[in-house]
Amino acid sequence: MVQRIRLVIHGGLIDHEDGEESRQPRREALQQILDAGYQVLESQDALQAVIQACALLEDNPLFNAGTGATIQRDGQFRLSSGLMDGNRQSFSGVINGRLIKNPIHLAGKLQQFEDRLLDSTGVEIQARSLGLEVYDPGTPELVNRWAEFRFTPRFTRSHGTVGAVAVDAQGKLAAATSTGGRFMAGAGRVSDSCTPAGNYADESCAVSCTGHGEDILDEALATRIVVRVGDGLSLEAAVERSFHEAKERSRDFAAICVDLDGNAHCAETLGLLVAAYRNDAGAFTTTF
Ligand code: ASP
Repeated sequence: MVQRIRLVIHGGLIDHEDGEESRQPRREALQQILDAGYQVLESQDALQAVIQACALLEDNPLFNAGTGATIQRDGQFRLSSGLMDGNRQSFSGVINGRLIKNPIHLAGKLQQFEDRLLDSTGVEIQARSLGLEVYDPGTPELVNRWAEFRFTPRFTRSHGTVGAVAVDAQGKLAAATSTGGRFMAGAGRVSDSCTPAGNYADESCAVSCTGHGEDILDEALATRIVVRVGDGLSLEAAVERSFHEAKERSRDFAAICVDLDGNAHCAETLGLLVAAYRNDAGAFTTTF
C-alpha cells in the first residue's frame, strides 16, 4: 500500500466575530505556506516539512511567532519553539529565546545535540555559534501598543502560535510549534509550545496545540492525544475524548493532528482555529 502523506498547519486562534478582512489574508498566507511545505514533504521528509512550514509561519507578521511575535509585560520578546521527531522519539526546543529570527530552525539543529532544550542563555550561545541570524522582532507599532497598554490594561485575546504536523511517504511523523506567547504576559512566563504538552509526536500520531498555554499544560494535551492513538484509539476518537474532557474543565485551546494513515483532525474548545490542509481530493481546505 502507498503511504498517504499529509501536512496540516495552523496560525493560532481568532475570535468567531473576526471578519473576512482578517480571515482572508490568513487564508492566502496559509495556502502559500502549505504549498511550500508540501514541496519539502514530497522531496524530503516530515521533519524537514514541519520545520519549513513553521519557519515560513514565523516569518509572516500575521502570526504570533518569529517576526510577528508579541511582547511580554516588561517590553521584551521571548520566543519559544518545540520540535518532535516522532520516528526517533526526539524532542528539541527553545524556551524564551531573544534576538532570534527562527526559533524553529534552532530547534531543528538542536536535534543533533546532546543538550536539546535550551533557555535564553543557551539560545544566545548556540544561535551565535551556529551562525543563526540575530533579529529583533520589535516594530514601532508593537512597542507603542505595549506602552499604551501598560497604562490602560484591558481584556485582550491577543496571543497566538503557529504549528505544523506531517506524515511522510516513509510513514514518519513530526510536529513543530513556535510562539511569541501571550501579549503582556508576565516577564519570563514560559508557553506550552516548547513542551510535549503543546507539541508532541510518536510513530502513531503528531499534534501541535495553540490557545491558553496553562490550560494546555494542565491537560498535557498533545501528549494525551498521541498516547491515546498509540494505545489503539482512532485519531478522531482520541481527539474527541480529549476535547470532551477539556470542555468539561472549561479549557481554552485548539489542536491540529495527523496520524500514520494520513488522517487529519483539528479541534477547538473556544475561539476559531486558523488551520489549513489539503483534503483527500487534494483541495486546499481551511477550518475558518
Ligand atoms: N499557547 C500560547 C501560549 O500560551 C499562546 C497561543 O497559542 O495562543 O503562550
